[in-house]
Amino acid sequence: MTDLTELGVAAIRDGVAGGAFTAIEVAEAFNANVAAAQDALNAFIVATPEAAIEAARAIDAKRARGEPLGKMGGVPIGMKDLFATIGVQTSAASHILEGFKPQYESTVSQKLWDAGCGMLGKLNLDQFAMGSSNETSYFGNVVSPWRRSDGGAENGKNWAPLAPGGSSGGSSAAVSARLCPAATGTDTGGSIRQPAAFTGITGIKPTYGRCSRWGIIAFASSLDQAGAMARDTRDCAIMLEAMAGFDPKDSTSLDLPVPAWEANLSADMKGKKVGIPREYRVDGLDEDVAGSWDDGIAWLKDAGAEIIDISLPHTRYALPTYYIIAPAEASSNLARYDGVRYGLRDLPEGANLQDMYAATRAAGFGAEVKRRILIGTYVLSAGFYDAYYTQAQKVRTLISLDFRNAFESCDVILAPTTPSAAFALGENVDDPLKMYLNDVFAVPASLAGLPAMSVPAGLNREGLPLGLQIIGRAFDEQGVLNAGLAIEQRAGFAARPAKWW
Ligand code: GLN
Repeated sequence: MTDLTELGVAAIRDGVAGGAFTAIEVAEAFNANVAAAQDALNAFIVATPEAAIEAARAIDAKRARGEPLGKMGGVPIGMKDLFATIGVQTSAASHILEGFKPQYESTVSQKLWDAGCGMLGKLNLDQFAMGSSNETSYFGNVVSPWRRSDGGAENGKNWAPLAPGGSSGGSSAAVSARLCPAATGTDTGGSIRQPAAFTGITGIKPTYGRCSRWGIIAFASSLDQAGAMARDTRDCAIMLEAMAGFDPKDSTSLDLPVPAWEANLSADMKGKKVGIPREYRVDGLDEDVAGSWDDGIAWLKDAGAEIIDISLPHTRYALPTYYIIAPAEASSNLARYDGVRYGLRDLPEGANLQDMYAATRAAGFGAEVKRRILIGTYVLSAGFYDAYYTQAQKVRTLISLDFRNAFESCDVILAPTTPSAAFALGENVDDPLKMYLNDVFAVPASLAGLPAMSVPAGLNREGLPLGLQIIGRAFDEQGVLNAGLAIEQRAGFAARPAKWW
């Protein structure tokens, strides 16, 4: 039999439904890959092989009874460890939530189980989803399965292990290393798109409000949005359909029906206009990144689209705006971790309540999380609120208006996902500004709440994947997916990391 871990979401769903193999066989195959890669890649914080088997058994039983199997019947997935899962440690990769086992299930994970998925485990991430490299995880960084082709053991050099991106780096590494056919991600300022680009997989963040935030550990609530990470556009469309939908438990949830994204996939771009934002062509843009952007333009033209020049004049303010708003909201959201209600409690001898709060938070939060809390508290403080927070909110509106204006003349926007391919672990870790700069192309769409995806577009000269980003109008995930499919069909991206783990 073929190696079942070579199959993606659609192929597994169809194979299980058609009886080509059983859901149990699929779950066993992926469980084995998860276990075999754990020491080398550290993609999972907790593996849950029994949960995967149990869900698969239920699907096989349903099939035997002739019942419908669901949109993703028999597909085992990885769950980013930011989604609350009943009885299974949900840590946000932090020490402060180590050992926390929720009493409830997040809406998105519940929808996926209802659609017939099983859980392979909880995926590693940057602590509280703050980071771009997975190095802020309390449980150790994830290692990308990719390696540069120009260095490494066979050339007598030391491998420089690469970052899988962040914050959904466990998800990206696991999908690209065939530890799971798909994984959930969350994107606050690029955390689905950037890791997808770094590992040669596909990831989509839908319009803000499409997926319920209920039960997702909050980072910056006005930006946080769950999405799908998988091997290709179709698989992302299938998974997003299973994840999305109105939820009265999230006050910002969109009360709209979930479109049939998979059924309406079409790579025909005739009559569509693709905007190329001139502000993204920054001075000193990496040559390979610029080249892959040009390839993307040519592919979309070939698919029938008209290419037009557009301007998003406030682009250069997006990063500073994001790094005010996101920490401000984080400082408020993370106030709840006080040693009283969840996870860690540090109660020094003779300590009073204040001492306990301080000791718990000092011991429980990592350095990057503390940095964000400090920045956030500062920009919200009485003397600086107007200068920073209010100002950032105004600029956020201007950034949204830029997009609104641009979408008067185009249907989707094409840009690189990241300014470079994956960097080495350790390369940016001591320089937060350099790390933050990685998000420069991703945060504008987050601030505007727009759907955006990254599709693999080719390899750079070091043999590392590059991603192209498609940004769409609010609610137009279909337009984004279709442009992604047009690129995917022409890019013919088939590269994968050589197996060393
Ligand atoms: N890298 C960005 C940050 O550190 C984005 C994170 C995210 O989208 N969760 O904030």
